[in-house]
This record gives sequence, structure tokens and C-alpha cells, in this order.
Amino acid sequence: MPGVYIHIPFCRQACHYCNFHFSASLKYKDDFLKCLLKEIKLQKDFLEPFAEKTKDNKLLLDTLYFGGGTPSILKVSELIMILRRIYEFFKLKPGAEVTLEANPDDLTMEKLMAVRQTPVNRLSIGIQSFQYADLKYLNRPHSPAQAIQSIKNAYKAGFENISADLIYGIPTLNNDKWQENLLTLINLEVPHISAYCLTVEPKTPLNIFIKRGQAEQVNENHAGDQFEMMIKILEKHRYEHYEISNFGKPGYFSKHNLSYWKNIPYLGLGPSAHSYNSKIRQWNVNNTKEYISRIEKNILPCEKETISTQKGFNEYIMTSLRTYWGCNKNKINREFGSKFLKHLEKEASSHLKNGLLIEENDNIKLSAKGKLLADKIASDLFV
Ligand code: SF4
Repeated sequence: MPGVYIHIPFCRQACHYCNFHFSASLKYKDDFLKCLLKEIKLQKDFLEPFAEKTKDNKLLLDTLYFGGGTPSILKVSELIMILRRIYEFFKLKPGAEVTLEANPDDLTMEKLMAVRQTPVNRLSIGIQSFQYADLKYLNRPHSPAQAIQSIKNAYKAGFENISADLIYGIPTLNNDKWQENLLTLINLEVPHISAYCLTVEPKTPLNIFIKRGQAEQVNENHAGDQFEMMIKILEKHRYEHYEISNFGKPGYFSKHNLSYWKNIPYLGLGPSAHSYNSKIRQWNVNNTKEYISRIEKNILPCEKETISTQKGFNEYIMTSLRTYWGCNKNKINREFGSKFLKHLEKEASSHLKNGLLIEENDNIKLSAKGKLLADKIASDLFV
């Protein structure tokens, strides 16, 4: 069942490592919201062939995800306004997952109590680290104490489906502190953890500071060690490593993100959002002012590409291999054809022999050793 992603392109301040589309000014927020409501109507048919319909002609959704940027920057009344518009054309299935990405500094008790009255039933909190030095290095707008308090507040407000983001490989984060970060989340009983390796993207302030010698360089070996440490610690505490960067207690895997990795159609709304429906991929313009200008003229703010069988196969390999389940040979035969299955079997054979891949019940997946080389192994399997 498909999902909808809504990109809210505003943040309180710019994190130095960030290359997502956002603005630290709220100048265009009201115009953006007006246009987002309009875009929901303009794009609603994208999912039509792939979604069940209710009697009153609404498309059924399994997941709705507010990402960004920092969606928790919105007032609760603005969030409700967007949800009302979504409900004009879509209906959430019983048990649907509705996620709000949030930064700790936004999660006051008052705000959380108000958000809890909306259909939002999952929070993804951008913690990144519980250490002052790391938060300073990353230029995060919150303190370690606020990060801990935000999680406690979320529980008190009645949220139990909580995910926390962490970053590893930060030069200021030694292995003891990394372990402390993980144990803090474990002790707070956070049921889902997403952990990303710090990467220095070309057009970011972090890249400039490193080049000027004003910030310490990121070390790949340091990050690799912390990745391995994390797997051991989280698996010991019964988190399942169900995707390279994601760990969850049973029943708490991210349904929305799983749909990306399992090639389930989704509609992305807002500047820079991507959409996918097995035949077409489309992406909205990566500029809020331009997005507003196009929507005001009733022009769809996106470009599209038709996904060739070859591209579809490569994307499936790339995304599915990152998951616990791996890629399924029967699905490949059914959806891409026997030629692609033969290619996969031929290219995977050396990695099956060297132990980087394993095969179980017609699924080919990464071994523990293979997880460290996921992108390289996937590219070896591409057509
Ligand atoms: S809060 Fe998120 S989107 Fe905003 S600047 Fe920081 S990393 Fe980027």
C-alpha cells in the first residue's frame, strides 16, 4: 500500500554537514504552506493506479511522513491544516504509520501534547549525539539535556513509537562516547534507532571548514570501527539490524522507509521531494522560491523519468541489499525477467564464495562482513 512524504523545507539553523534542501529563514513559510495545499490536489492522481480506493473515492495510504528540513518547526495548527487537506483526497488505513521528524528543541511538553491529538503516531527525533563537542562540531541547535528531555517528554505525552537519529564517525566522538550515546538510547528504551555515518558533502559548510583547517577531518577507519561497535551493542540489546542504517525492536521497523526499500509506490510533496510508482520517478524542484512560483502558476514543480528495466533492476539491488531480507530471486524473475536473474546469479557467485553474500530461501543478502562493503557489493551486481 503506498505512502505520502511531505517535505517541510525550514530549519532553525543550518547544521554544518547538511545537504538536504532547507532554509534557516521562515520568510516563505506562509506562501509555501499555501502552495503545498495546492500541490496535494495537483499531484493526488500520481498514486491512483497503485492504491485501493474507498467508496467515496479516496486513495488508501499505509504511511504518511513529514520530513525535511524540520517539520516540528510548524505550529500544530499548520500541521492540522496539512492533514485536513490530505484527508480530502486520501484516507489512512487502520494502523497507518504517521511520522513527524522533529528536533529536540521543538519538543516541549505543550507541543507534544498537542501533536498527540493529531493522527501523528510516530516521532523521528534528530538527536545525533548526546555530547556537547559533537553538537558543536555539527552546529546542532540543541543541548544534550534537551535531547534527553525531548525523549522523556515524548513518552509522557503518550508517544511510544519513537525513533532517534544518531551520527557516528564525528572526529570529536571517541569510541567510549559513541558507546555512551548508544547506551543512553537503550536505557531510555527508544525502540528504533537510525544511525548514519558522517559524510562530508561537497557544498556544505563542514567541507569548507575542513578545507580551511578550521574543523577536524573525518576518518573512514574511525567510522568503520564505530559501525561495527554499534552492530554488536544494539544486537546484544535485541535491536534487529533490518537495514544498513536502521535498527528496531520487533514491531517498530519504519513502515514508511521500508516502502522505499521494497519498491512500494510513494508520492513526495514539497520542494526537493521525490516520488516513485514503479514506472516513473519524479522529483520536485530543489528551491522553495521556484516551487512556490510554479505552483502559483498551476505548473507541476517536477521533472520525471521513465524507469527502464535495467534501472529498475539496479535500484532494486541497491535498496534491497541494504535490508535484512536482501533481494528476492523470484521477484527478480517475475518483475525483471530471467535474463536479469541469470546476471544476478553469475555476478553474486564470487561474493557468495568469499562470504560477503549469503543465500537463504531464494533471498541473496549481505553477510555481517558484507555489510561493511554494501555499496561496493551492490555495484558489482548491477547490469
Ligand atoms: S535540522 Fe536536519 S535538515 Fe535542518 S539543517 Fe539540520 S540536518 Fe539539515
